[in-house]
Amino acid sequence: MLKSISKKERNRGGERMVDCIFCKIIKGEIESQRIYEDDKVVAFKDIDPQAPTHLLIIPKVHYSNLLDIPEDELNILVHIHSVAIKLAKDLGLADKGFRIVNNCGKEGGQSVDHIHYHLLGGRQLTWPPG
Ligand code: AMP
Repeated sequence: MLKSISKKERNRGGERMVDCIFCKIIKGEIESQRIYEDDKVVAFKDIDPQAPTHLLIIPKVHYSNLLDIPEDELNILVHIHSVAIKLAKDLGLADKGFRIVNNCGKEGGQSVDHIHYHLLGGRQLTWPPG
């Protein structure tokens, strides 16, 4: 069962945050190819791209996954979607189409424990995913 941590813990760099690879990317401790940043999110290129465009959009506040976001902070998801739409347009994906994916938990295929949305485009994507 996933244990929630308080916002205070998240922002103060609680233990789970210190070990988090995406928190390290946000802090610049691990290199990334950053495409976009604002006060709430960072977007960077996926290290193992599955399409010509493959970005990850992550909140600066550490949430493990969808289940870890307190109800009164769910508006971060709207913001992530609005950034994904902006980037898709800026990168020329809007005409042909693109995909936004969130993998949640083990059977959902989540491998990094900091919520992230994949933005994929630039080739014909198939469905369902494996
Ligand atoms: P998921 O499997 O949905 O949890 O996605 C995690 C994604 O993070 C994968 O597509 C990885 O290729 C990507 N990833 C892992 N480490 C890094 C990194 N240091 N920089 C960029 N992308 C990464």
